[in-house]
Amino acid sequence: MAASNKQVLLASRPKGGVTEENFRIVEAPVATPAAGEVLVKNEWLSLDPYMRGRMSDAKSYVPPVPIDEVMVGQTVGDVIESQDPRFKPGDKVLTHLGWQLYGVAKGSELTRIDVKRAPASYYLGILGMPGITAWFGLSEIGQPKAGETVVVSAASGAVGSVVGQLAKIKGCRAVGIAGGKAKCDYVVQELGFDDCVDYKAGNLLDNLRKACPKGVDVDFENVGGEILDTLLRLMNRFSRIVVCGLIAEYSEPYGYKALRSVLVNRIRMQGMIVFDWKDRYGEALEALVRYHAEGKLKYRESVVHGIDNAPKGLIALLKGENFGKQVVKLD
Ligand code: NDP
Repeated sequence: MAASNKQVLLASRPKGGVTEENFRIVEAPVATPAAGEVLVKNEWLSLDPYMRGRMSDAKSYVPPVPIDEVMVGQTVGDVIESQDPRFKPGDKVLTHLGWQLYGVAKGSELTRIDVKRAPASYYLGILGMPGITAWFGLSEIGQPKAGETVVVSAASGAVGSVVGQLAKIKGCRAVGIAGGKAKCDYVVQELGFDDCVDYKAGNLLDNLRKACPKGVDVDFENVGGEILDTLLRLMNRFSRIVVCGLIAEYSEPYGYKALRSVLVNRIRMQGMIVFDWKDRYGEALEALVRYHAEGKLKYRESVVHGIDNAPKGLIALLKGENFGKQVVKLD
């Protein structure tokens, strides 16, 4: 194999916000697959907020990326060479090969994807980990009933956009929270939410109150900080908060003031990690593929081009500058 590999390594752990100095881009030889292994040329790399956590050595639900190792991440790519009889050159696969152009994985770690059903990159978003997160977080923890009000923050993003559309399918009032008029217009006009509150426009509590005249039954929380603290004041009795993500707190902790509402309103507040449903991913995927094919789930991507720009893409995502699922087109 004449081609050379390019990799993005974690060079240092961020102190506060992520910077380009936290990464190092290197050339490396393309590895050769041994028995049971497959060589994959990555085409799309997913950028996700959880990567901020993996750059840190704070205790979490998975270990951090070691310094000088390839940054972790899901990719979609083409099988180039296979020593596993289940795969052949040309197969499209979902991998965990991280921020690099080529990688070798055990065949057992790869999932074949069907690009006739949806474009390859969709398996990193609406038909991948973020979509599955929305599905189980809403149905298993949020448990919304028809007629209830579901609020979701980061509503135009990979997880949030699916949550609100699923809430509509379940007959709920879906209210998004997003940063800026363009994102809010998209959430209502394209995704079909009932309303969307621009948290950057000020008056968050009043605007949320207007958007949720019957209070909030389910908060699918993707952001945390001031947004969650404000929503706590609008939650109904016996409502549910799905703590899916706290992106506003990944670089800077926040001190909550309205936690008393959990007690007074008997709110069930539960954290979720998508891996907890790994044995049931197929169930979620089947439903998501069907809804997408029926035109009930709309989707948008924010594309960065070239592996050299992956660090900039992650930094932009962590500042909320993406509009839709953040992916990198690698070639
Ligand atoms: P998104 O595509 O939604 O992108 C992140 C968005 O967060 C930004 O676009 C921005 O949208 C919003 N945001 C709000 N406040 C901030 C802030 N202070 N700094 C940066 N961004 C902010 O990402 P995902 O859909 O992939 O992830 C959404 C959340 O779900 C994250 O918190 C993530 O960690 C979590 N998650 C959790 C999983 C689990 O298993 N628990 C699995 C997958 C994701 P806006 O401009 O509208 O504010």
